[in-house]
Amino acid sequence: MSLPFKGYQNEVTFALESVRLAAELVKTVRAQMVQAAFTKQDESPVTVADFAAQALVAKHLQETFPKDPLVGEENASELRSELEQKTIQRICHFLEPFLGKQSPQTVCDWIDHGSQSPAVRFWTMDPIDGTKGFIRGDQYAVALALIENGDVKVSVMACPNLRDGNSADVGGIGTLACAVRGEGTWITDLTGRGLWQQLKVSQHAEGSDAVLLRSFEKKHIDSPRMTQFSKLLGLAHPPILMDSLAKYVVLASGAGDLMLRFPSSDHPYEWIWDQAPGVIMIEEAGGRVTDLDGKPLDYTCGRQLKGNRGVLLSNGALHPRVLSILKEVSGPV
Ligand code: AMP
Ligand code: MG
Repeated sequence: MSLPFKGYQNEVTFALESVRLAAELVKTVRAQMVQAAFTKQDESPVTVADFAAQALVAKHLQETFPKDPLVGEENASELRSELEQKTIQRICHFLEPFLGKQSPQTVCDWIDHGSQSPAVRFWTMDPIDGTKGFIRGDQYAVALALIENGDVKVSVMACPNLRDGNSADVGGIGTLACAVRGEGTWITDLTGRGLWQQLKVSQHAEGSDAVLLRSFEKKHIDSPRMTQFSKLLGLAHPPILMDSLAKYVVLASGAGDLMLRFPSSDHPYEWIWDQAPGVIMIEEAGGRVTDLDGKPLDYTCGRQLKGNRGVLLSNGALHPRVLSILKEVSGPV
């Protein structure tokens, strides 16, 4: 089926193909390395898959849009050291079926092509968002977004363990999600050859009807503040616990209603690659995203959202009420 987008056709085609291949690559790494990782600490499958996926996308970007910088989570400085020779060899090994035999130097150069700084137009990538979910066999995402003049224009995310965008259950052949500014949020299966289905957020406007999407990892949540917030909003349903940006697809599909991230001393600011690819999915499905004070997210402050305090993502209908409740939620930051 042809793509359901008119704008940014070249960018969408590039992003769909490179994210799909990167997802295939990380799935292979997981299948071959995760069992071993529990006994062997030195070459973590997360490290290998993360770097390999960034190298793959950076190489394709360099060929397709040579002037566009890529702001990815990883850089190759440690991989270039003597100590990490085994790791870079392993990365080259997993890249070979996709890019042919390549030298460690070339692969490190591609990884570093993906560690540039934001510009007027740039791409941002999280090669594996939800690394804990990746290891556990739960949800994770390969995410890539295009930002122009501080606005997210295109996003593609692969969620290899997301069945259909509607639940946290692991299974199926995975989901490929794509959003283009002004043209909606759409999903298809991870092969990219299935039908495209448009996503719409829910209509729930009452706390008692709402379902909260929450990180699976307790360390990523400010539990006391989240509990206080949930009581004040009158949440009556159990939250959906999920790793990664896959949560944003579930919110966009209407199967969940809101999500928030409180800043903490460990994690005072959000990374742009952790937000931009998912935020446009929610906005283009009819939802709303601001920080906890109701300010729009500002992607012009570097690699982190330093002009914002936390993030609030909702179906839109719940947004005003949640913002007013957040004024009553106390916390350290
Ligand atoms: P999730 O899968 O929702 O738990 O989110 C994963 C993201 O949480 C990662 O990409 C990290 O950037 C981010 N993260 C890491 N440490 C923290 C922390 N202490 N608090 C909040 N978020 C964190
Ligand atoms: Mg991440």
